[in-house]
Order: sequence, then structure tokens, then C-alpha cells
Amino acid sequence: MSTGTQIEVRGLHKAFGDLEVLRGIDVTVARGEVVCVIGPSGSGKSTLLRCVNLLEEPTSGTVTVAGTEVTDPDVDIDRVRRRIGMVFQSFNLFPHLTVLANLTLAQRRVLRRDRREAAEVARANLERVGLAEKAEAYPAQLSGGQQQRVAIARALSMDPDLMLFDEPTSALDPELVGDVLAVMRSLAQEGMTMLVVTHEMSFAREVADRVVFMDGGVIVEEGPAQRVVGDPQHERTRTFLARVL
Ligand code: ADP
Ligand code: MG
Repeated sequence: MSTGTQIEVRGLHKAFGDLEVLRGIDVTVARGEVVCVIGPSGSGKSTLLRCVNLLEEPTSGTVTVAGTEVTDPDVDIDRVRRRIGMVFQSFNLFPHLTVLANLTLAQRRVLRRDRREAAEVARANLERVGLAEKAEAYPAQLSGGQQQRVAIARALSMDPDLMLFDEPTSALDPELVGDVLAVMRSLAQEGMTMLVVTHEMSFAREVADRVVFMDGGVIVEEGPAQRVVGDPQHERTRTFLARVL
């Protein structure tokens, strides 16, 4: 695999008991590339993301992240996971900690940064997501959109090589979605490698380099964002887009 490849998924299968959720997925994400995964509920999008950082163990196939095959049983998965930022639909901030403490905790525990350095990194990333003034606030004092931006800043504070987003705006009130997408858009412009599951088709069309349409645990169609969203070739893609657009 070329050094420009950040995520390489080959022949990925995942079953939960008798339920075959992923049935042979191949995906490659190059360094600096933004790939959006779209598809109906239950098609296996979250499972795919969770296999990339081994929150789920694939049944078969290989996943390689930044040159390390994470599906190799001998790999130190914690080391690999540290390089992957993950943002979920639910923000999972610690409610009893300030925003700043939410951002410094893993830096100190996992990266062993001292208090001062961790706080500096945290403040720089709060600035990046437009929330510099909220460092001392508690999560409950923030809107959902602000909490999600804090969650993004927390992931960025670990200096990830790539970011995985799983429907980061799906739990938000419609008027709060735009601010979160704007942060993701600026990350993309900065060259962050991103694999994003989303139902925001205008984001996919405008920000993604490529769009992957999944249905029933397989990739039905993939290609340049403009083409897959704007001029889909497959009937299943068209039917899905007609429902969400
Ligand atoms: P999507 O994110 O596209 O909505 P998921 O990857 O969450 O789809 O789920 C795909 C299918 O796998 C669904 O049928 C779901 O119920 C099933 N599934 C996901 N996680 C588990 C699990 N831990 N155990 C059993 N079934 C699961
Ligand atoms: Mg999902």
C-alpha cells in the first residue's frame, strides 16, 4: 500500500451471530482525503467505522491504518487508536468536568502531557472550533452543537492522523447543525484525513472528495461526491437519495 494511504479496508466481513452486517467491504482513504459514507439505517455504516479502530473485531478481512495492520493479532491496538480521532452522534463529554478538563484528561493520561502543555493544546483546539471562551464552562451549560464542537476539539487534542465521524450532527436541533459542519469543513480544508458517516447530503457533495453508498452490508456505489450524490448510477442509490434529499 502506498505511503499516501491512511485507511485501507480489504474484504471486510462482520457478523453478529447469524447476522451478516458487512459482506465484503473494500475502502481506501488517502492522506488528506475526505470520504463520506451514506446509506440507509442498518446498512452497516457504524459497524464499518467501528471496525476501522477495532471497537468491533472483523470476522474476516484486513484493516490497515497509517501503515499498521490493525487486524494483525500482534498489533498494539491502543497505540493505533491514539492516532485515530473518533466523534460520535452522542458527544460523551464528562458532565462533572469543565470543558478544559474534558480536553486535558486523555492528553494527560494517555499521552502523558503535563498539565500546562495539555491545557495549551486544549485551548488551541477550542479556538479552532470557535469555543475559546467556553473553557471553564460545564457541558450542561452548552448547546448540543457546542458540546459536539467540544467533542471534536477533544479528539483533535490527541493530535490524530485521521478522524472518524459517525453521524456527528444527527442528534442536533437543525439550527445547530451548521456550526458543527463548518468546523468539519475547515478541518477538511486544513488537510485532515476524514471518514464521515453522514446524512447531510450538501456536506457530502461539497466537502467530500468521494462518497461511498452502502446498502445491506455492501458498497453499492462509490465515486466522486458530485457524481454519486448528483448523478447516481444505481437504482438503490437513487431511491435512497430521493428519500433524504
Ligand atoms: P448503520 O450505522 O448503517 O445504521 P449499523 O452498523 O449500526 O448500521 O448496524 C448494522 C446492523 O448490524 C443492524 O442490523 C444492527 O442491528 C446490527 N448490529 C450492530 N451492532 C450490533 C451488535 N453489537 N450486536 C448485534 N447486532 C448489531
Ligand atoms: Mg449508524
